[in-house]
Amino acid sequence: MKPRYLTKSRFKLAHECPTKLFYTGKKDYVDNKLDDDFLRSLAEGGFQVGELAKLYYPGGTNIDELDHAKALAITNELLQRDKAIIYEAAFVFNNFFIRADIIIKSGSKIRLIEVKAKSYDNEEGFTGKNGSIRSTWKPYLLDVAFQKHVIKQAFPEFEVEGNLMLADKGQLTSIDGLNQKFFLSSVEGRTKVNVIGGTSAKDLGTAILATVNVDEYIEMLYQERYDFNGNDLSFIELANRYAEIYATDQITFCGLGSHCGSCEFKASDVQLKEGLLSGYHECWTAQANFKPEDFSTPHVLKIWDFRKKDDYITNRKQYFQNGITRADLDAEKPKKHTELG
Ligand code: SF4
Repeated sequence: MKPRYLTKSRFKLAHECPTKLFYTGKKDYVDNKLDDDFLRSLAEGGFQVGELAKLYYPGGTNIDELDHAKALAITNELLQRDKAIIYEAAFVFNNFFIRADIIIKSGSKIRLIEVKAKSYDNEEGFTGKNGSIRSTWKPYLLDVAFQKHVIKQAFPEFEVEGNLMLADKGQLTSIDGLNQKFFLSSVEGRTKVNVIGGTSAKDLGTAILATVNVDEYIEMLYQERYDFNGNDLSFIELANRYAEIYATDQITFCGLGSHCGSCEFKASDVQLKEGLLSGYHECWTAQANFKPEDFSTPHVLKIWDFRKKDDYITNRKQYFQNGITRADLDAEKPKKHTELG
């Protein structure tokens, strides 16, 4: 039987809601994010950014082998060398398995570089005024923290440095038509980015991607405590818990809340009629005792910009709009959006 590894995308999914680990990858269940993520990546240039990043660290070995064991063997062989640049390097430790975007190995040091199609402002940084990590950056930093943990466990003899490679807000491209140097193709159902032959870093003009060392923030995340179903866990305990949930394929309910409003495992009426399964419907039936008719009753989740959703759902157990008071809605109006930490 194929091992059920916790990968970086599954770690991210679990951090949104651990219950999602049960529904992900099962073809009987609706997953609306599969297409969404692909389209968003296309729109934001995610595929091209990954390829552009490799040009800034040229001369590496691209491991496009999909087979886990083969990808691990190639990675291990390359890491035997004193110096190596590896794209899509594979690492495994217990039930964790990751493919790292870029690895630069030099002696006993490994630089891990995670590439994101997201812009970064050096002046603003990753933390808010109160010194804690901004919520908008947290998923990205958790991602690198998770990868660093796996590499450290797989190769304890190496010093591992975590980096994010991001679009530098302070730089404008000095080359016209930079994006035309990259074109997309589909090979066996997978999207591939091809770089026009002969393109090198010097053809790219001003560096528009910045590599930012994020070890300081990773350390903050390692020190943080995480609530998991009422248990106070460390980062490593949390990652182990996610890995165990996924490996055993047991459904784990961790509470309903405002996060359910964007659940990708919610089937539409049409999808339900087609016989597809809906994780969302299962969750609300099991945890809120929903009957079929409740799914068509106007839900608290549907109220736009209503910040008391969690209070209504978790504490008051009032799931429908007819339970909302005028005073609650009015109380929302004067407040302005501010970024929390
Ligand atoms: S419906 Fe809510 S609890 Fe269930 S998987 Fe989706 S987000 Fe998680």
